[in-house]
Amino acid sequence: MKYVLVTGGVVSGLGKGVTASSIGVVLKACGLRVTSIKIGSFSTFLEKTIGPIIVLSLSSFVLSLVLLLDLVYYPYLNTDAGTMSPFEHGEVFVLDDGGEVDLDLGNYERFLDVRLTRDNNITTGKIYQSVLDKERRGDFLGKTVQVVPHITDAIKNWVESVSVIPVDGKEGPADVCVIELGGTVGDIESMPFIEALRQLYFSVGQDNFCLIHVSLIPVLGVVGEQKTKPTQHSVRELRALGLTPHFLACRSAEPLLESTKQKLSQFCHVPVGNILNIHDVPNIWHVPLLLRNQNAHHAILNQLDLLSVATPPDLQ
Ligand code: ADP
Repeated sequence: MKYVLVTGGVVSGLGKGVTASSIGVVLKACGLRVTSIKIGSFSTFLEKTIGPIIVLSLSSFVLSLVLLLDLVYYPYLNTDAGTMSPFEHGEVFVLDDGGEVDLDLGNYERFLDVRLTRDNNITTGKIYQSVLDKERRGDFLGKTVQVVPHITDAIKNWVESVSVIPVDGKEGPADVCVIELGGTVGDIESMPFIEALRQLYFSVGQDNFCLIHVSLIPVLGVVGEQKTKPTQHSVRELRALGLTPHFLACRSAEPLLESTKQKLSQFCHVPVGNILNIHDVPNIWHVPLLLRNQNAHHAILNQLDLLSVATPPDLQ
């Protein structure tokens, strides 16, 4: 199994879900079978409703609004979306098996034409509940139960077992599992997940893991310059946790300038060719096309050592 992990930095609501779904679409267009897992936090109702308006104009004023929204963003301990207020998070998305989950799962189903299960949505609540149930049954045989290794092992096992469940109506496991880690790197709630995914990366090896970090490139009104510093800081935070991104997916109002890409590459340790730009588009269905036009599928296949088995479609 090959894994594509999508993390987010700087602020929430940047479009990690849309980016992860779109990566799945371009990989699927290369003839690969794709499944997906969403880990953790919900966007707020505000992000889901006025998010598209915000991302359409990331001026300095709107940027401060985005930053403000981040204060009301919720990494959470709930087991699923069923008991969460729609006024805070928008409607729940109900899966075929009755699982009440984050709206992003709906994006995955629509973009990838798959039918997901409740287990494709991993939450802190579900993980802790499974570990605590085991502890009550005495499965740990008197051992001290800790976040590392018991919670992190539970996360790794969950990801590995769910990723091989076919979701596209065909037999056998998919080729690639796209994992979206909700929230923003640095959230306390996501720490065990980051550590578990770091361990997963180490155990599956370089050729089977691709990390794409979605970040914000703001333009400050007065200066009028694309700013890379927030992205530099979030990549530094990620690297401090043991994960170095192979790709940056940069959200910006306008396409990235070549000089911005050079700077990001130099300071974030990511080759220029792996800096993808996902600027604002009028319709999220354009995002897979943006990725295709930047040849992202080719670079991701290369990272996952899949060029010999997948067929990148022509650019037009
Ligand atoms: P996250 O997963 O980071 O919380 P989402 O994928 O849910 O973010 O996207 C947040 C909002 O931004 C959604 O309303 C989505 O439609 C919108 N969005 C995402 N990417 C783009 C883009 N490139 N252009 C315009 N709107 C976008």
